[in-house]
Amino acid sequence: MSDILLQVKGLQVAYGGIQAVKGIDFEVREGELVSLIGSNGAGKTTTMKAVTGTLPLAGGEIFYLGESIRGQGAWNLVKKGLAMVPEGRGVFTRMTIVENLQMGAHIRRDKAGIAADEEKVFTIFPRLKERRDQLAGTLSGGEQQMLAMGRALMSRPKVLLLDEPSMGLAPIMVDKIFEVVREVHAQGVTILLVEQNASRALQIADRGYVMESGLISMSGEGREMLADPRVRAAYLGE
Ligand code: ATP
Repeated sequence: MSDILLQVKGLQVAYGGIQAVKGIDFEVREGELVSLIGSNGAGKTTTMKAVTGTLPLAGGEIFYLGESIRGQGAWNLVKKGLAMVPEGRGVFTRMTIVENLQMGAHIRRDKAGIAADEEKVFTIFPRLKERRDQLAGTLSGGEQQMLAMGRALMSRPKVLLLDEPSMGLAPIMVDKIFEVVREVHAQGVTILLVEQNASRALQIADRGYVMESGLISMSGEGREMLADPRVRAAYLGE
């Protein structure tokens, strides 16, 4: 039996006549943390959106748990365990923190399990617990990112897709976010992480892929890639 949870083959995605993703292959295995890095406009977010069913495919296939998910809507995929934290977070600002977390569990009916997971999320993010009845709109950017991650975890995902979680955050919050991504992974959640912060993303990754102009130009183990002079020159400012 294969332990590949997500397999992308020859993926192409276009906006009108413009190809943003030009035929890429990658995979995410059970228990892995895989980072997809690359500069602004390389096609990372577009790839994420195709995987989560929010953008149609212009070519190729995406397999999740061995089954093609082409044409399946985002809602269906969440039910099957593919949860995404989008760029820009998208928390419900007029709802409290607890209400946001409950929204993440709306596909579930197991009350006891939901309550247990809520406690688990609060253990990972004690800051959210302190503010559980506060409106999400009053949180800082970093706290909202944590809430968005917590909300996604409430659906008990098999694969968690994170799109640029460190974007726009103060350096101290960036540290904290990478720490919690590492912790969530350590607890057994499989993660696909899209990041412009290549150094941090590769430090915590089992494996990484570099995207450039709609194609994957390099791939390898996280640590190997961190040491690769080509990666260092292009993405780590050396
Ligand atoms: P970022 O870090 O800015 O999110 P990215 O690697 O995720 O960068 P994408 O956002 O996927 O890159 O963009 C890939 C290409 O597709 C870019 O050339 C971008 O200009 C183009 N693009 C993205 N969104 C649209 C859109 N809605 N309509 C047309 N072109 C788009």
